[in-house]
Amino acid sequence: MGFTTKQIHAGVKPDPVTGSILTPIYQTTTYVQDSVDEYLAKGYSYSRSANPTVDALEKKLAVLENGYGCSCYSTGMAAIQAVVQATLNAGDHAIVSDVAYGGTYRLCTKIYARFGVEFTFVDTASPEAVAAAVRDNTRLILTETPANPTLKLTDLAAVSKIAAANGIPHAVDNTFLTPFYQLPLELGADIVIHSTTKYFDGHNATVGGAVVTKTAEQDEAIRFVQNASGVIMSPWVAWLTLQGIKTLSVRMERQSANALAIAEFLEAHPKVARVQYPGLKSFPQHELAKSQADGFGAMLCFEVKGGVQAGKRIMDAVELCALAENLGSVETLITHPATMTHADVEPEERERVGITNGLVRLSVGLEDVQDLIDDLSAALDSV
Ligand SMILES: *Cc1c(COP(=O)(O)O)cnc(C)c1O
Repeated sequence: MGFTTKQIHAGVKPDPVTGSILTPIYQTTTYVQDSVDEYLAKGYSYSRSANPTVDALEKKLAVLENGYGCSCYSTGMAAIQAVVQATLNAGDHAIVSDVAYGGTYRLCTKIYARFGVEFTFVDTASPEAVAAAVRDNTRLILTETPANPTLKLTDLAAVSKIAAANGIPHAVDNTFLTPFYQLPLELGADIVIHSTTKYFDGHNATVGGAVVTKTAEQDEAIRFVQNASGVIMSPWVAWLTLQGIKTLSVRMERQSANALAIAEFLEAHPKVARVQYPGLKSFPQHELAKSQADGFGAMLCFEVKGGVQAGKRIMDAVELCALAENLGSVETLITHPATMTHADVEPEERERVGITNGLVRLSVGLEDVQDLIDDLSAALDSV
């Protein structure tokens, strides 16, 4: 079956009691048992451990990512945290992409470092740098590709090979491209992480996360954390996300086409200093983007001539694009990573990895592309 058929039908079936075509929202804490001897006969005990609406979403995501299983979380950060908790102990070491969502960096440096876990932030665009960073106590390689916000890519097959050779699980944050465009498990990765807040929801309605695993053993370990840490997704969020995913491929295609048109417009604009979008021939890893994914996605970033001040004026001047955190929704959002999504990354570290103060991030939405170009054009004319 094709991806679009699966995004609609996988994991869900009409309700056996009423025929309701949509999976109901099972808004309940607990499940009455038939007898002590048949405890868990229907599969459910308490909604922190499992819930039928959340289950439907987990089944759908496992199918879409070609994984063994999936567990869903209250947020994308809770999903990343579950992977950390399932794989690392005090005294262990992890390798993390040096460009990643700011919250990932903050979770590692401000929380798990306190529990005796060591992190090295590595330029995972270089497989050699990843190999060189492996230590005897390395127990996790966590990459994000394309990375938030610079779009830097990690060669998933090359890094997965290094991970496998050293017996280390490779977890990939696949939030930016989604399984419609990129399948990390097929390229050798072991775990896939998502902020479902972004393209899966797609409508700026919910925050949520997911972890897709490749083996039964991994799935058991992560489900233990999901229950023990109390970080499961709520049934309401799962239900809304189930609806959002049904149009994922259609949104991704249109939003990515919009992004390419905007990237080309910006690259040709005299007031723009540089544009980073994996679909542009000028993008340093354009060939890698073409070889490991089926599309380039709908995120881009750019810097305007005149640096920080000019960039801020653009973000204040746009009218259709909304100045806001978040990405992946049908609404186009414009963000200033240095003061918004990546404010907790130290200024020197931001500068080192290319998150400059003048960088503007655009999450391209589903609006008519000419309206978006007109909005950006007017904003650029005003600086
Ligand atoms: C937003 C985001 C996260 C965190 O997800 P939340 O749902 O906001 O907790 C993690 N990784 C990436 C790549 C993101 O964009």
